[in-house]
Formats: sequence, structure tokens, C-alpha cells
Amino acid sequence: MRYFSTRGSARGGSRDSIGFGAALRRGLAPDGGLYIPTEWPAAFRPQDFAAEASLPAIAERLLAPFVADEPLIAAALGDIVREAFDFPALLVPIGGNPRFGVLELFHGPTAAFKDFGARFLAACWQRLLRPDERPVNILVATSGDTGGAVAAAFHRRPGTQVTVLFPKGLVSPLQQQQLTCWGDNVRALAVRGTFDDCQALVKQAFVDPSMQAQFELSSANSINLGRLLPQTVYYAASSLATWRRTGEPLSFVVPSGNLGNVVACCWARKLGLPIGEVILAHNANTTVPDYFASGVWQPRPSIATLASAMDVGNPSNMERLQALYPDLDSIRRALSACSIDDAAIAARITADFREYGRAWCPHTAAAAEAWARLPESRRREPHWCIVATAHPAKFPEIVEPLIGRQLEVPATLRALYDRSSEFVEIDPALAALRAAMG
Ligand SMILES: *Cc1c(COP(=O)(O)O)cnc(C)c1O
Repeated sequence: MRYFSTRGSARGGSRDSIGFGAALRRGLAPDGGLYIPTEWPAAFRPQDFAAEASLPAIAERLLAPFVADEPLIAAALGDIVREAFDFPALLVPIGGNPRFGVLELFHGPTAAFKDFGARFLAACWQRLLRPDERPVNILVATSGDTGGAVAAAFHRRPGTQVTVLFPKGLVSPLQQQQLTCWGDNVRALAVRGTFDDCQALVKQAFVDPSMQAQFELSSANSINLGRLLPQTVYYAASSLATWRRTGEPLSFVVPSGNLGNVVACCWARKLGLPIGEVILAHNANTTVPDYFASGVWQPRPSIATLASAMDVGNPSNMERLQALYPDLDSIRRALSACSIDDAAIAARITADFREYGRAWCPHTAAAAEAWARLPESRRREPHWCIVATAHPAKFPEIVEPLIGRQLEVPATLRALYDRSSEFVEIDPALAALRAAMG
């Protein structure tokens, strides 16, 4: 499989294709676009996976065509997926309804779905690096789940260094602990500034020739193919399980921000997996739902909401959705989108805890609310699944007052909270970053 940029020939950019390893190293295409497959493999049929029940086994079969031309990855794919997918993606029925469930993606080391992508990316990097190469320096600016997932995934991986930049005093104490508890090859920098300052600093580093000369820099953000492709696997596994049980497809409601998770769902459907409807549940950042309604693509600055990991006003992965569904009609046929404001998120957390005894994180609650707003007839028809992108215990200050009790912290998170914390404070300046990395 080869990859080219979403801004390829049709939009005046380069139509050169590159292999999986090169796309993973680059992250973003040189013309600013995102890498997508040049062609799609022949569609899989559910029976192709008959013998494959485990997540790693499904991953190995599903991802093989995508890495086939990168010998270092192809030869190690079995080991890579066993390392990356060493925790489950559980499909759990809700409220005794056989047609309604939740796909729990929060059983990894940092209790959010980003663990799947980050761990696959890290396992691939380790195989791509030649022994004589300089260590790769992964730079990541974070305000939430990404930094922790990337740090956890690369921790103690030979040949890799991670530098996490977060805005000093602007992340919650528990979030800060997840970013600063690693040590070894993971460095945490508290930047005296905002998240935008952190991001600007990372961008500055990437375009600075002397930083590039001094360090082998790479990014690990969600536009990287190495994070996106592995996310197709839990959609495959859950839809196949439903197909086996009922002979029918599974429809998804996906809490969405930068659209990486939902692109993976659409790619899985394109690959032939038994996936029915797909609904994007956004928060009060309405760029995508507005586009579905009006046909006008109008990015705006993001606004802060309870579901903060979805606070995105200009979602990068929209380019990949548009490559798949090039006009408004086809995208509307393929997907629907809605916006759930903070009041509705909060009310849904309270209501579903009462009705089902389930506590949702604010992101998952947006999906639960989107499902609850469907007309009764549509809710009854397909098999539905809301996607739980994070464990509620990551957001105790939001969720606990709404359900009136304390949440149990999963063992994975408790293990992080028990570690000691270490970070260095820097000014938002390139010289300070260079000194801290040196
Ligand atoms: C990142 C994140 C999202 C948004 O996912 P996208 O792929 O950016 O659409 C939703 N929920 C949680 C908990 C996240 O960390």
C-alpha cells in the first residue's frame, strides 16, 4: 500500500506516493495535507475473520495490506499488534437492551482511546529505527489525553525520546500527574504560557533548521497514519462480534473533535466491515455539524467545554473525510453530525447514571445524548453502540458532583498516580526548549 497527500493533484499539490514507513516518519505531507491510501484493498468479508477473535489477530489481518511495502513493519506486524493491543476493547450491553451497547476504549494505560493509536505508533517507530540512527525526538504539545497516551506508549522504548509540553497551571492536577510521572526517556516541560504557546513552540521547533540539525524531530499527533490506522481495529472487532451474534451490522455514535476516531470508523466500513450508520457527536464546537447543515465549511477558534478533548474549531481530519466523501450529498449519506452543549452533557451524565447505573466521561456523554435524541423508530432499528473514549474517573471534578458519588479509579490510573512526578519549567521560547532538550 502506498499513500499520498489529501492535497494531491486535484488541489495542485504533489501526487507522489510514499510507503507506510515514510508516511509515519513524516506525519504531515510536505504540502500540508494528510496521508491517505492511494487505493483500497479488496473489501474484507466477515467470514475472512472467522477464526480471528482476539484484537491482535484481527489487527494483524486487517492492517497487513497497509504495511505490506514496509519490510521492517510487515515482518514484525504480529509482534507489533500484540504489544499495542494488550488490553481489550469491550462491547458491553446497556440497560439489558440487546440492541444498545457501549464500546469501552478506556482499558489502556492512560484510560483513553488514544492509547490504541499511541501504542501502535510507538511499536512501529521502534522497528523503523536503524541501530546506527540518532534517537528520534517525539515532540508533543498537549492540553489533555494525547500527551499522557504518547508518553506511556514510548516510555522506555529504545531509540526514542519524548518531550511533552503542557501549559503550566492550566491542566488539572490529575492530568499533570499523567504527563509528569514517567522519567527515563520521557521529559515533561511546564511552559509558562497557554496551550497555544506550547503548540506554537512545537511548530517553531519543526521549521527551525538548527533544531532539525541537532535533533531528529518527529510528531505523534492524531493526523499521523500510525495513530489512525490502528483505530480501525476496534471498529472491526466490535462490528464482527455483533455480526456473528446477530447477522446484522453495528451502528456507531462517535464523540468527535479532530475527527481521527470517526475517520477510522469510516475506513473500517470502507474495508467491508459490517458497519451501519455512523453519527458524529460534537460538543458546542459546531464547525462540523454546521457544515452538514449548511454546506459551508467555516472553521472558527475553539471554545472551552466540559468535553475538552473535543474542543476543536478546525478539525484537521476533515480533509480525510472529504477525500472519502467528496461532496456534501455523499458525506450526508455516509454520516450525520450533531452538537451537544455542556448543559445537555451534564444532564445526560446524571440521567444515565440513574437509569443504567453507568457513569460516562463528558465526551462519552455527548455520544449517549446524541443517541437519546434519535427518534424512537431509529433507535429501535439497527444495533447501536456509543463509543466510550475515556474512563469517567479521568474527570472526577466534572462527573462526581453530577452522579453524587465518588468514582472508582481503575488500576491502570492508580498505578500512574502512585508514581513520583518530575518536570522542568520553561519560558515559551525556542532557546528554552533547546536547552531543556539538550
Ligand atoms: C481525543 C479525544 C476525543 C476526540 O477524538 P478525535 O479523534 O479527535 O475526534 C474524544 N474523546 C476523548 C476522551 C479524547 O481524548
